[in-house]
Amino acid sequence: MIRISKLAASVQPSATLAAGAKARQLRAAGVKVYDFSLGEPDFDTPKHICEAAEKAALGGQTHYTPTSGTAEVKAAVVRWYKKVHGYEFGPENVIVSNGAKHSIHNALAATVGPGDEVIIPTPYWVSYSDLVSMTGAAPVLVTTTPESGFKMTPHQLSAAVTPRTRVLMLNSPCNPTGTVYTRAELEALVDVVLGTDVAVLSDEIYEQLTYGDAKPTCVATLRPALKDRIITISGASKSYAMTGWRMGWAIAPPALVKAMDTIQSQETSCPSSVSQAALIAALDGPQECVSEMRTEFAARRELTVTRLRDIPGVRLPTPDGAFYAFFDVSAYFGKTFGDKPVTDSLSFCSALLEQAHVNLVPGVAFGAEGFVRMSFATSREVIETGIARLKAWLALGT
Ligand code: PMP
Ligand code: GLU
Repeated sequence: MIRISKLAASVQPSATLAAGAKARQLRAAGVKVYDFSLGEPDFDTPKHICEAAEKAALGGQTHYTPTSGTAEVKAAVVRWYKKVHGYEFGPENVIVSNGAKHSIHNALAATVGPGDEVIIPTPYWVSYSDLVSMTGAAPVLVTTTPESGFKMTPHQLSAAVTPRTRVLMLNSPCNPTGTVYTRAELEALVDVVLGTDVAVLSDEIYEQLTYGDAKPTCVATLRPALKDRIITISGASKSYAMTGWRMGWAIAPPALVKAMDTIQSQETSCPSSVSQAALIAALDGPQECVSEMRTEFAARRELTVTRLRDIPGVRLPTPDGAFYAFFDVSAYFGKTFGDKPVTDSLSFCSALLEQAHVNLVPGVAFGAEGFVRMSFATSREVIETGIARLKAWLALGT
């Protein structure tokens, strides 16, 4: 019998991927599922990006590349940041990995370990706490509430810093809340950090998906003094509908990039050669595909927010970015649906899926009991029907 390591036994499976897998299973059994679980654009990757990959594959770009990505892909990342954010750095600051999740893992593995603390504002994306725990470091959760728009205040941040704190994780626009911090709010948080030894890991993967007046901020550009201690994470999954290509990157001080490169050389050798060619086409190519997808997400956001707010007892702050609605359903806890008592977000989601075939992700997975997450990266028809089914089901609770 093979023993399972302590590390493997201590890691929770990704709740979002698990919820997606559950829907897939039900669909395979012939059930029509209204699936709002996975944070994944439902659009196919734009054609010019696929064509670049095809050309690369047929042109022989099928070999290992340098561990941290080709010179061409790094140059494309450098160009993109200069153009979009006015953020200037060199290729020695860039490492491309197999998805932003991989970039975050590498960044944490290269910066923290046992005895260290990493500050994570909650609600947080499911993988943050496990990725931190896998290094042996301790996640320190800072609770934010709908009343503050799910924003951590500078006061909360300074209260959470201890002599063991090594990294602060930021995620604006945020998964799961859709919260977008303003530039001034981020400056205030950064100023707290600059009074300490703490580094910042800023996950900006939803930067191209903001709505209304909300604007994304590239945190690294806020203060020159951040230069030596900020890791910017982003990726192609969300903006370019490229989840399956697994393209993410980190921008960090050269010494840290080197350390991450060493880790990556032992883990995965390099990111996929063909996907790197696709990423170059995504970053350098026409950007209308991004605005078209954003316009459609914006319409779906309106629809989702309007329909959800029409349900008695549901409380939903407006998501200004990403593609999630994160809402409070605790008014329904203590009720019974069919023969199922609903006592928390887990039992809520499981009864809802079983009885109404609507698939949401429990808030507890994001460190926020009482809430559920609905991804609106799905068709308007599914949103209309799914929310109508949710509303009808909620009315059945006794
Ligand atoms: N960060 C956040 C906040 C996310 O929601 C995701 C979801 N996929 C990722 C990182 C990782 O994305 P990927 O690995 O697909 O690049
Ligand atoms: N980040 C997406 C989500 O939160 C995709 C799934 C995952 O990588 O966890 O649903």
